[in-house]
Amino acid sequence: MSVENSLVESSKGIVIIGAGLAGWHVIDAIRAKDKGIPITLITADSGDRYHKPMLTMAISQKKSAADLVRATGIDAAEAANVKLLANTQVTDVDTTTQQLQLISALRSDPVYTNYATIGYDKLVLAMGAHPIFPKSLPEELVWHVNHIERFGQLQEKLATGSQHVAIVGAGMVGTEIAEDLLKAGHQVTLIDLNDAPLSQMLPPKATSRIAQAVNSQGINFLGGYQVSAITRLSDGKLQVSYEALASATDSSTAEPIEPLIVDHVIASTGLTVDDKLPTAAGVELTVALVSWWMRRPCVPVQPIFMRLVTVCLSMACRVVTSHRCARRLLPLLMMY
Ligand SMILES: Cc1cc2nc3c(=O)[nH]c(=O)nc-3n(C[C@H](O)[C@H](O)[C@H](O)COP(=O)(O)OP(=O)(O)OC[C@H]3O[C@@H](n4cnc5c(N)ncnc54)[C@H](O)[C@@H]3O)c2cc1C
Repeated sequence: MSVENSLVESSKGIVIIGAGLAGWHVIDAIRAKDKGIPITLITADSGDRYHKPMLTMAISQKKSAADLVRATGIDAAEAANVKLLANTQVTDVDTTTQQLQLISALRSDPVYTNYATIGYDKLVLAMGAHPIFPKSLPEELVWHVNHIERFGQLQEKLATGSQHVAIVGAGMVGTEIAEDLLKAGHQVTLIDLNDAPLSQMLPPKATSRIAQAVNSQGINFLGGYQVSAITRLSDGKLQVSYEALASATDSSTAEPIEPLIVDHVIASTGLTVDDKLPTAAGVELTVALVSWWMRRPCVPVQPIFMRLVTVCLSMACRVVTSHRCARRLLPLLMMY
């Protein structure tokens, strides 16, 4: 259901913006206490329920985007007694009148430019974060795996046979997807500014072992390099130009580096939070990312990684998540 042409009838109650893990979990928590309070869920996507961490395991498991959907937005909303406004973007919050401005998120929608409004008694912002695309990684040439729809398009391309994929960014997600693609039979080059994967969260002793482990698995890890440009070639392949970081080389003696020719590039260069709505809602957004390691005997110990608990603290929200990739670091971190 998209935004109707006319003003959406003012439906007071709880309004939740965002149908990712956070939005749906808030609904579960409210419904566990109160079956009847009116809830409206507004989301720029379809609202389908899926577990986002599965996106970095699905390709080797030969799962399509549809396979990962646990319930469509429509079915999940009906089951939770929630009014769903899917494919609808909130563009502004007015806390004085307690109203939201809405627009269809579908560019093809004839009402794309027509605003509607909806009232709320309580408002929950659960809008997640967006991928960062540095200038050298133009959005139209690279993939990201932060949303099931985009993931689905990539999965379809990769399902046609073994391909060469360059992944830029060896953090949690980049390293996980590199491993998943390798398992699925693809040739993988993982590029990072740092000398080793996960360098922003682990000590050098641990990350150098991870670099060795990643390389010995068959991933071509290029540490200490920066991607400078990506160009589409006439045969459809992508040319990835990259250079050693100035700090790591003496530019007078550095040899020119042959660009990589690959089928796909995945950008895994971090996420950013759009502060427009929180600011309009009067929420001062101060997000701190804190990571630490937890040893949990119940967690199955896999080859490389261990459990990470990522806590995002802000004045508005608290999210606790654990990374599969991090779990696999357990054997390495137990040494420290
Ligand atoms: C590939 C990958 C692997 C991961 N692996 C792990 C893991 O192993 N362990 C772990 O703990 N975490 C993992 N994470 C992180 C975790 O999945 C995310 O932190 C979590 O899913 C974020 O959920 P969210 O609901 O906050 O945001 P999102 O899932 O981004 O949802 C945001 C929602 O808000 C909607 N929205 C945004 N702006 C608007 C607007 N203006 N109007 C209307 N709707 C809007 C969007 O349409 C969407 O429905 C992983 C993330 C990725 C990408």
